[in-house]
Amino acid sequence: MKTVLITGSTSGIGLGIAKEFAAAGYSIMFNGLEPNGADIAREVGETFKVKTDYSPANLLKTDQIREMVAQAEKNLGPVDVLVNNAGVQFVAPVDEFPEEKWHFILGVNLNAVFFTSQAVWASMKSRNFGRIINISSAHGLVASEFKSAYVAAKHGVTGLTKVLALEGGPYKITCNAICPGYVRTPLVEGQIKDQAKVHGLSEDKVISDIMLKQHAIKEFVPVESIGKLAVFLASDAGAQITGASLPMEAGWTAR
Ligand code: NAD
Repeated sequence: MKTVLITGSTSGIGLGIAKEFAAAGYSIMFNGLEPNGADIAREVGETFKVKTDYSPANLLKTDQIREMVAQAEKNLGPVDVLVNNAGVQFVAPVDEFPEEKWHFILGVNLNAVFFTSQAVWASMKSRNFGRIINISSAHGLVASEFKSAYVAAKHGVTGLTKVLALEGGPYKITCNAICPGYVRTPLVEGQIKDQAKVHGLSEDKVISDIMLKQHAIKEFVPVESIGKLAVFLASDAGAQITGASLPMEAGWTAR
């Protein structure tokens, strides 16, 4: 059975993706900073009767990224599918954007995508198979005010996805990005509060007038849908999709 490594999979979208891969029978390497990460990995493994393991690697540290990949290979087998999902957000106008937050957001949302992909690359090449799936955002395609670092990082992921697709092509390694609209996860709960402060609005107004206003379909995107698209991209049927940044954003970027 194939092995998938999913960064940031002990919360939100990553956990939803992990459950879809578990339902498809994959062995799963979990990662994330949640203190109950090991329990989450064990529970998913028991529920779906698949092998799981957990690494608390901090993706800002390249040595920890490489240790996480080595741990996955040792305990579950070579990484066939990498889902670069971990991400962080900070919302502020340009003139107030703290320098350390800029580096932090670029570090997790862009640099770690490169270094984790690099850590699995030689093994994928040698096996002539690989799937890299980057969880980007509608903000990898279009911009919003007050999200300079996040939008820059996600647009960077769009470009990196294309380069990995081109370099991976000869080795049957595909690389794609999924670009979700708003998904109601802990990350978005935090943004609702931050945006309420920045815009001086109630939290309900932020949801209806700022977030879902962008969607043609006025609903949050379900994590299960993102997980099912990721499983499809990892499958044989997804073999010819590469270099794409696929919107799953309820029509946001149609306008
Ligand atoms: P979340 O906050 O629920 O989960 C983020 C995960 O990343 C957590 O497990 C966290 O521990 C992990 N993480 C953060 N920094 C890390 C680090 N340095 N090292 C290791 N793990 C780290 O967020 P989410 O909403 O599930 O977001 C997941 C991805 O989806 C992110 O890349 C985000 O940008 C993207 N996204 C989210 C939405 C949304 O509306 N929620 C929309 C579009 C894209």
